Amino acid sequence: MFETLSDRLTSVFSSLRGKGRLSEEDIDKTAREIRLALLEADVALPVVRAFIAKVKERARGEEVSKALNPAQQVIKIVNEELVEILGGETREIRHAKNAPTVIMLAGLQGSGKTTLAGKIVKWLADQRNTPLLVACDLQRPNAVTQLQVVGQRASVPVFAPQPGNGVGDPVEVARQSVEHARLNNNNFVIIDTAGRLGVDAEMMQQAADIRDAVQPDEILFVVDAMIGQDAVNTAQAFLDGVGYDAVALTKLDGDARGGAALSIRHITGRPIMFASTGEKLEDFDLFHPDRMASRILD
Ligand code: GDP
Repeated sequence: MFETLSDRLTSVFSSLRGKGRLSEEDIDKTAREIRLALLEADVALPVVRAFIAKVKERARGEEVSKALNPAQQVIKIVNEELVEILGGETREIRHAKNAPTVIMLAGLQGSGKTTLAGKIVKWLADQRNTPLLVACDLQRPNAVTQLQVVGQRASVPVFAPQPGNGVGDPVEVARQSVEHARLNNNNFVIIDTAGRLGVDAEMMQQAADIRDAVQPDEILFVVDAMIGQDAVNTAQAFLDGVGYDAVALTKLDGDARGGAALSIRHITGRPIMFASTGEKLEDFDLFHPDRMASRILD
């Protein structure tokens, strides 16, 4: 991801190199080229506009006109503004005052929720936590089994519906899982919910009902970065339908142009918390805006 954008920006900056002073014209031309590069990378228009306005304003200011190396200073500004648009700081999990900390995942089918659930519990378990995975996707026939396989791989227990355990009722399963976690000293509960292929009122309602029943400490919207511009629309639909505290971006290892990753924070006002970069449980980390910006400008 970001290869094209990265190449484009490198060539924009190379034309600035060696210039002792930047004219108004240099700055305008650079801003135009950055704007095009971002649009080509599928970054949403309002995000591009805000970004360019900020870069231009700063490039015209003293920090550039007084710099010994103005080109370097412009790159520094672009880097800082990229970090900003990606959310600034790394967003850590907010822990519940009293365990367990409940994290609910919501997103479309195929967005990578189940895989992500496995990655999160493995990551938590590696840090000496005692997470519980909860199967609340009762829509897709294989979802529960898939989660059980993921749980086994991560060596983490899975709470799944059984007779007397809310069969067929994801809200009841979620409710009971939190109780189960309390009794079994699981300090985290990760709830996988049902997704559909497209945004769907019934799915939203189910996720909202689970939310109301367990009042999660964190609701994560899981989105496939490969779906490009659609990611932004889906993000907005989930914001309206369920609401969420943070975003998990999946499939960042793909060859999409990266626009979704760059747009989502600005459009939703929600930070990106996790980055998923492959099918293996280890292909996962907290999302670091500064590292992502460096990768783009590498
Ligand atoms: P769910 O329907 O939202 O639960 O999605 P799944 O977790 O079943 O993932 C859908 C597909 O995407 C599966 O084939 C996963 O192996 C794959 N997948 C999930 N996360 C990633 C990722 O970060 N990178 C890549 N390349 N594939 C992923």
